[in-house]
Amino acid sequence: MTAQLIDGNALSRQLRADVTARVTALKAKGITPGLAVVLVGDNPASQVYVRNKVKACEDTGMHSVLERWPATLSETELLARVDALNADTTIHGILVQLPLPAHIDAQKVIEAISPAKDVDGFHIASAGALMTGMPGFWPCTPYGCMKMLESIGYELKGKHAVVIGRSNIVGKPMALMLLQQNATVTICHSGTKDLKAMTLQADVIVAAVGKRNVLTADMVKPGAVVLDVGMNRNDEGKLCGDVDFDGVKEVAGWITPVPGGVGPMTITMLMVNTLESAERLAG
Ligand code: NAP
Repeated sequence: MTAQLIDGNALSRQLRADVTARVTALKAKGITPGLAVVLVGDNPASQVYVRNKVKACEDTGMHSVLERWPATLSETELLARVDALNADTTIHGILVQLPLPAHIDAQKVIEAISPAKDVDGFHIASAGALMTGMPGFWPCTPYGCMKMLESIGYELKGKHAVVIGRSNIVGKPMALMLLQQNATVTICHSGTKDLKAMTLQADVIVAAVGKRNVLTADMVKPGAVVLDVGMNRNDEGKLCGDVDFDGVKEVAGWITPVPGGVGPMTITMLMVNTLESAERLAG
């Protein structure tokens, strides 16, 4: 069996075209959605991510501000910048790129962002909204995974979903979103005794670990949907996921590639969240 590909680039193009149309409609009402991206330090991966986010804003017609600060910026100074962006009426979404330098308490900075502008969905208020099924911003990566499932018309009700990884930004919110759609959800982590026994029961597997080949073909039920969130480098230095793609694609029914899968969807959902923040303001 060869799995069908869920193409994150193609789906992103579709969704971003819709975002662009809605941005144009908002601009006609005098509101330009605006995203502020704050980068502290010179982490090379972070620099690429923020560039891609700013470019996505430009492509969809949104306003963006990129603030670059040296790694020596103090926590107090960063909190003051967040306060200023909270008060800035041209900004509808604030994203502080993680990781932050060790002397800055990342959680404290996230909690300083106004929940109304928390387009990354990392604020405790956003987490609480997701947990209780209230309106709020969903973290972009798991939100993108849900859009991928929706794009193939996948009915989650009654299915068994296994999420590998339990971080606050991917694994846990992913599990809650799947639960909200009436899947039966199992969350696995580094303490899980027999990962293979869990994944073999799964109709949907989301791998969000950050280690190559965490999921191999012998761990997948034929026909399962496999979403690969992981971002790793292989021996040749090329980007790869957590899933042994070549092996698993022979067993799975659907699979996301890396690159070109969940990655572009994450940025697309950031655009969606920023747009929706501006739309809320417009009433
Ligand atoms: P994280 O905070 O490091 O969490 C990794 C999770 O994997 C932890 O819950 C850990 O368990 C679990 N884990 C580690 N080894 C395991 C094993 N052998 N078996 C089962 N579970 C294991 O990472 P993250 O921020 O969630 O990110 C996960 C991956 O997704 C990374 O590669 C990251 O780069 C990538 N990512 C991609 C995107 C995107 O846009 N594509 C966005 C965000 C993240 P414990 O909790 O027990 O330690």
